Amino acid sequence: MKSIKSSGSAVCPDGCEPFDAEFWTLIGADEDESLKQALLGGELNLVRCPECGKFFYHDRDIIYFDPPAQLLAFVAPNAGKKDFDKVKAKMQADFKLLKENLASLNIDYAPFYLRTLEELKAMLDYEAKISEQSEVIAAFAAQRGFKLAPLRRADARANGWPFYIPVAGADYNKEAVLKASKEVLAQNPDMGLLAAFIKGISAGEPLPPRI
Ligand SMILES: [Zn+2]
Repeated sequence: MKSIKSSGSAVCPDGCEPFDAEFWTLIGADEDESLKQALLGGELNLVRCPECGKFFYHDRDIIYFDPPAQLLAFVAPNAGKKDFDKVKAKMQADFKLLKENLASLNIDYAPFYLRTLEELKAMLDYEAKISEQSEVIAAFAAQRGFKLAPLRRADARANGWPFYIPVAGADYNKEAVLKASKEVLAQNPDMGLLAAFIKGISAGEPLPPRI
């Protein structure tokens, strides 16, 4: 997804003369790693007042979109003191439009509606944690000769499960998945997402589709 930049009047919190500044309105995280890093580093849409030199955020609504990761978030940093329900209704309408305009991307997962860039950062940190743990699972699974079943990212994220699940043998079924998952967890008990997956499936949740 290509990122989109816009420009508009920025108002310094110290009451200086407004000035024109560029800001990002859509971050295509799959194509723009540098923008994602700027966001994580707190530099995204940070501008400097030409009059007094103060740095501040040119806060506008931002869409964060990473189609391969099935991750879409609408962020309204200015909504803070306003009625968030109204803001959310507008974001939901924006989502409907985006979904229709990008029908080829087949967005069949729910987006996140967030109030602050901090919430977005927290979400990306959680995403990094899932990826990291999924890589560890993949490494342990490979050591033991298990196959890996990739889950739909949106499903895994929503349930607090890893992105890949180990499978013992050729068939993807509950027994094969639980056997391999338990063995991998025994190798490294510090894998909360895999533990949560085992708990959910053992308790009778249906096996999620693999992709
Ligand atoms: Zn200023």
